[in-house]
Amino acid sequence: MNSVSPTLSRVAFERPTSRSDLIAPDCRGLNFWSVDRSIRDLLALNLEPAALAHFEPHLERLGGIAGGRLDELAMQADKRTPILHFRDRFGRDEDWVEYHPAYREMERIGFGELGIHAMSHRPVLGWPAPVTPLVKYAFQYLFAQSEFALLCPLSVTDTSAVLIRKYGDAAVKARFLDRMLSQDMDVLLKGAQFMTEKAGGSDVSGNALTARQAGDHWELWGDKWFCSCVDHDVVLLLARCEGAPAGNAGLSLFAMPRRLDDGSRNRYRAVRLKDKLGSRSMAAGETIMEGAVAYLLGEAGRGLKQMMDQVNLSRLSHGFRAAGMMRRCLNEALQVARHRTTFGRTVIDHPMARRQLLKLMLPTEQALSVSVAAAMAMTKGDDSTLRILTPLVKYRASRDNVAVATGAMEMRGGNGYIEDWSNAKLVRDAHLGLLWEGTSSVNALDIVRRAVGRERAHEALATALHEDLGRAPIPGQFRSRLAGLVDRATDFADTVARQPEAEASCRRAASGLYHATSAALMASEGARLGAQGGDTRRLLLARLVIDHRLGNADPFSLPDHRHEDAMTAALLDDAPVSMERAAELLAG
Ligand SMILES: Cc1cc2nc3c(=O)[nH]c(=O)nc-3n(C[C@H](O)[C@H](O)[C@H](O)COP(=O)(O)OP(=O)(O)OC[C@H]3O[C@@H](n4cnc5c(N)ncnc54)[C@H](O)[C@@H]3O)c2cc1C
Repeated sequence: MNSVSPTLSRVAFERPTSRSDLIAPDCRGLNFWSVDRSIRDLLALNLEPAALAHFEPHLERLGGIAGGRLDELAMQADKRTPILHFRDRFGRDEDWVEYHPAYREMERIGFGELGIHAMSHRPVLGWPAPVTPLVKYAFQYLFAQSEFALLCPLSVTDTSAVLIRKYGDAAVKARFLDRMLSQDMDVLLKGAQFMTEKAGGSDVSGNALTARQAGDHWELWGDKWFCSCVDHDVVLLLARCEGAPAGNAGLSLFAMPRRLDDGSRNRYRAVRLKDKLGSRSMAAGETIMEGAVAYLLGEAGRGLKQMMDQVNLSRLSHGFRAAGMMRRCLNEALQVARHRTTFGRTVIDHPMARRQLLKLMLPTEQALSVSVAAAMAMTKGDDSTLRILTPLVKYRASRDNVAVATGAMEMRGGNGYIEDWSNAKLVRDAHLGLLWEGTSSVNALDIVRRAVGRERAHEALATALHEDLGRAPIPGQFRSRLAGLVDRATDFADTVARQPEAEASCRRAASGLYHATSAALMASEGARLGAQGGDTRRLLLARLVIDHRLGNADPFSLPDHRHEDAMTAALLDDAPVSMERAAELLAG
């Protein structure tokens, strides 16, 4: 078992020499890989030993960058947002976006050095084959702890390449694919995905961008309302071929290059950049297409179905991004709590602060477990389990990220609201996870109405979870309690799916399914780690999910404080929790 040891609480902290030392430190300067036992343990449980041995040093290196240079760059780029210019210096009407050098340096780290966009497609970082999904997402998880905005370009380039590979003809692949996977910044073609129009983002059936055939390509007329990575080189978008029916069935998928084969600019332009709440370093804008050349991908009329491949890949990436951002928030909150003194005590010694820290820890660990399970379902080709876990983690982890970011900001006190510290940026960035790739309600409907109701994907999920629970040495009655909760959660989701009049309960059903799933996963992970002589704290976290998120606590009765305090002490302490200690606590 991995035993890299520097932990948050052991970070050297000088004896205060001035009153400024009374301000709590942040996580800048820590190695985000080394301080994160959870990601190290879960990778050790799930990766092939050879892949683990190869990628650990790379992840450790990224952990250092994320806690250092990347964090500095992210804070700079967040403040110096991109500027849209409509003409070049010769007076040509060729719009371009000016970025702060910090953003360009972050691009070089993500695309150039690490090849996060390319690693699922071809060898990078000395590994002889494309990486298994969990490796790629581990890179994204660490990267997100400092920079959320650039993960959009990295991920959309990766997922656009997936669609071009899957649906493009030989000429389209030859035109774009190799360059989209390049790590040479002068050669690289970066991807983008423009789907949303003024008529709708959740419901694209009213979209009006029109495609007219012109020989071997098509020409696009109309506009797009939300275009992240507005100046990127290969844009995937939905358009309606002339004469196609109204509604979703009339939408087709196209690839639109920024530059044509002769190097000249394609006939579309960005007309405005969005002034965003968060993700401020990345340029999102509005575009107008005036006969822009585009190439049809796959079959006409199947655009939305094909585009959903990309949406689903992006949703899973969002699960890991939310888990990473929550980890950063939790670590920031622990730094404050362990170093700030109020009323004669270190904050972490105040009972209510301890409880608040647990409330940040729980959703962080849930998001990591469910995201990892989805990545492993992808690896195993268990498409049904992946089908339901993907919107489940996108929905719930994105929502939890908002509450955790706010809770971490509050733990830093007034400084948390000040833009010098990363908390304010984390609060702003977290909110975007709610909107991208479907709002909470849109994801909950996808989970309950489609994944459960139509595709019966919850049955595969329940089978996978029961197998997991059966295999892991989970103590006493706890295993059957978890198995019962999995059954109740899947039954309830099925009941809601079967009753059209119960639509308002889809979010509640999806949340229940997420909590039961995460509890089962964490218990199994904790027990398996314990069996290898490792830390069993995930068993305790599973119990807390039941108590805090699936319980029916009477609001006017006191909890069993002794038991809660003992669980809290075990979880806030860095020392590993033994199997015997976990069994005692679970029996309480
Ligand atoms: C910064 C930023 C960047 C973006 N970048 C891109 C991009 O690059 N490409 C792209 O295609 N899009 C992009 N988007 C658009 C984003 O995907 C949409 O905003 C999102 O999907 C919601 O669509 P909408 O804005 O049309 O809201 P609407 O769909 O109009 O939703 C309004 C409200 O209605 C609710 N609602 C809708 N349907 C239902 C229902 N059936 N039941 C219950 N409630 C419902 C929604 O939850 C929401 O609360 C971006 C958005 C932002 C903020």
